[in-house]
Amino acid sequence: MDDPIVHGALGNSIAQVYTIEFQKHGLPHAHILIVLRAADKFSTSQHIDRFVRAEITSSIENLRLHEIITKCLMHGPCCIDNPGSPCMEAGQCKKMFPKEFRTETTMNVSVYPLYRRCPNDTTFVLGREMDNRFVVPYNTYLLLKYNTHIYVEVCISLRAVKYIYKYIYKGFDYSNMVSSAGQVQYNEIANYIDARYVSAPEAMWRLLGSHMHDRSHALMRLPVHLPNQKRVTFKDGHEEEALQDARSRQTMLESWFQLNQSDPDAQTLLNSDIPYNYVHYHNNWKRRKRGGKKIVARVYVLNVKDAERFYLRMLLLHVLGAASYKFLRMLTTSFLALQSKQLFTVTC
Ligand SMILES: [Zn+2]
Repeated sequence: MDDPIVHGALGNSIAQVYTIEFQKHGLPHAHILIVLRAADKFSTSQHIDRFVRAEITSSIENLRLHEIITKCLMHGPCCIDNPGSPCMEAGQCKKMFPKEFRTETTMNVSVYPLYRRCPNDTTFVLGREMDNRFVVPYNTYLLLKYNTHIYVEVCISLRAVKYIYKYIYKGFDYSNMVSSAGQVQYNEIANYIDARYVSAPEAMWRLLGSHMHDRSHALMRLPVHLPNQKRVTFKDGHEEEALQDARSRQTMLESWFQLNQSDPDAQTLLNSDIPYNYVHYHNNWKRRKRGGKKIVARVYVLNVKDAERFYLRMLLLHVLGAASYKFLRMLTTSFLALQSKQLFTVTC
């Protein structure tokens, strides 16, 4: 992790998130997402070529690199050579290999860039003829340093970024397990258990207390609720206590209103900017003495069908220093009044 984060192997990183994935066999692998600072984001084909490649380096140019690529980064065999490969779906490779030859890298706004893959002579890999169309994208520095399977993709499109975030949080594996009780009495529930699959490497990883995932920034989610409609969690038999607790507890939204009644600095900030400058502690927002840089604050996303809360959220994203629900309502009313007055003036 130090290479991309501390030493900037792919550019200066400002945020990271990773997760360790275990499959049914083989060793674990990490899915790592690196967010680069604005100036280092991949903006041109030449920029991508400097960090990510998808071609077999000739053995004359760099024998070691050539050997690592042909050993670790050739996709397949799949398609006609191996129709039973796990990457095959409806007679096609899901990863779309072999790719097409192309003499230049092209930025692809819909998913990943189309990397340069010049037409080249075939190389024999494990007895098969392969060329640049089968190479998985890589970073030369990381490959030479670690001599292992390190795939690198540039995620420039929003779709790719969303997919990656979702993918690395996809959760653990399940497996259908058949339990043989010895008796020939068929019982579907007893025989088929939706069980969690823990492989030997995963068990070892957990016993050693290694991290399963980590991220550079804490995510803070700001609630949006109407008056007297804050979330209350009930436990069986303790309903009254839960209500009592909810009455005395202030949500982040309620304490933001309260903060704005007395703190002139807070009045210059939006609701979503508060966590960067204040910390929510014991039902109150208190000014931060340090930190706030490693936080990402987000207001809960709401469906437009939940109209009251949807428009409350819209207001929260645009109104500075609201001191109450009434303040927000009055502001809306005065805005509408102003708008109708302007319309009236224009019509005159
Ligand atoms: Zn394939």
